[in-house]
Amino acid sequence: MTDWSAFLAELPGIAAITHPAQLKLKSRDFFWYSPVLAEQLKGKVGDVVLTPRNEDEVRRIAAACARWKLPLTVRGGGTGNYGQCVPLEGGVILETTALDRVLAIEPGRARVQTGCKIAAVEEEARRHGQSLLMWPSTKRLATIGGFIAGGFSGIGSIRHGILKDKGNVTRIRVMTVEEHPRIIELLDADIQKVHHAFGTNGIILDLDVALAPAVEWRHVIALFDSYADALRFSVAACTPALDLFLLTTVDRRFARFYRALGEHFPDGKDAVFAMAAPESCADFAMLAARHGGRIALDLTEPELDARHLLPAYECAYNHTTLQALKVDRGWTYLQLAYPDPFDIALVERQMARLGDELYMHHEFAKAYGDYRAFALPLLKWSSRDRLYEVIRSFEAEDVLVFDPHVYTIEEGGMKEIDQAQIEFKRIADPQGLMNPGKTLGWPPRK
Ligand code: FAD
Repeated sequence: MTDWSAFLAELPGIAAITHPAQLKLKSRDFFWYSPVLAEQLKGKVGDVVLTPRNEDEVRRIAAACARWKLPLTVRGGGTGNYGQCVPLEGGVILETTALDRVLAIEPGRARVQTGCKIAAVEEEARRHGQSLLMWPSTKRLATIGGFIAGGFSGIGSIRHGILKDKGNVTRIRVMTVEEHPRIIELLDADIQKVHHAFGTNGIILDLDVALAPAVEWRHVIALFDSYADALRFSVAACTPALDLFLLTTVDRRFARFYRALGEHFPDGKDAVFAMAAPESCADFAMLAARHGGRIALDLTEPELDARHLLPAYECAYNHTTLQALKVDRGWTYLQLAYPDPFDIALVERQMARLGDELYMHHEFAKAYGDYRAFALPLLKWSSRDRLYEVIRSFEAEDVLVFDPHVYTIEEGGMKEIDQAQIEFKRIADPQGLMNPGKTLGWPPRK
């Protein structure tokens, strides 16, 4: 049994939360999208939340956890989907949100502390005429460190690739969890040692992310008579000739979750949500027309705000799931990567096979230089057995499933243990205290 009062007495001056209701709140993320995780992670709560304001406080927390051999789970905005920051073994939750300084904005690069809200970094970059290359639709709540430690890609990926792509994140400084914590700087390809490691191998302090010249994106909705038409148009729109920041297709049955869009997404039409550079809008509209589509909306974000309409990015990626769950909690979701070349007939067969059990939603993005089709369809929840029956049916069609109903790195997206990350964990977290249980590459704690 840990004497928490004695532990906290070693950390005077550091903001601490021990109130049960607040602990419960700070021990959760968006894992509840998955009824499987909702069941498995029930009751997993930390013992104390510590919110350091500077590096010295992070160092004191890391050293104390190492001395006391306590589990340490880092938490940013808590918007992950797989219980990434749920402390499976309790212990200390280190919340990064007070480490929120933008340290420098230079041409093509921002240096930021881990706990900066992504929207705040974007705002600061825009003051300098620049913009982040990609962000999750949760940018108002999510931190930049949490995105790098837990995320994969996002709005902007059709233009700039996934987070893992070269040059998107160029430097990460981490602190080790040892009695005498050290700081390690990782550059270029070495950042992969901590990217998407779910905070299991070092506390990210600050990082460098690439910036591009800012564009006033136009949020466009194009409507089609069939989902296959919407997909055919989207495949054709995956060309460097169109400057896009987002390209999402959702099938017509999503309209009931987007009533706020009114006639811009009526019943009976399949929709494409996009963010397009102003000089690409005319070509985008022409291409849509060639595929039988028509433009139903074309506004900037301030214009959308003024009309109380959703921005395109809140109709995309995992925000689609959120919009559905706000209306009807009977749904869950899948995360898929389609084989290349993308076969629209395969999607049609899947939709015919699954009928009203599955609402289709695709995201088009670049990964490792090539355009790829990903999907985050909604799946009607019935049981775990049925969920995995559907997953196996997709896998049998060579569709890669990033399972969002598991909490380890490997069972979800990565599929195999990343030995370079485990090697780095031996250096950065030799006692295996960080976010225990989240990687299959480290033996369970005794
Ligand atoms: P948290 O949830 O707080 O943490 C995520 C992981 O990072 C945890 O394992 C945590 O321990 C670790 N971590 C956090 N900070 C540090 C640190 N300083 N050092 C070490 N480890 C750390 N993800 C995408 O990739 N793309 C999307 O488009 C996307 N859209 C989303 C939409 C919705 C509606 C929701 C609910 C989620 C979405 N996500 C998406 C998942 C999630 O929002 C993002 O990954 C987000 O960037 C996580 O940031 P966060 O600050 O909330 O991280």
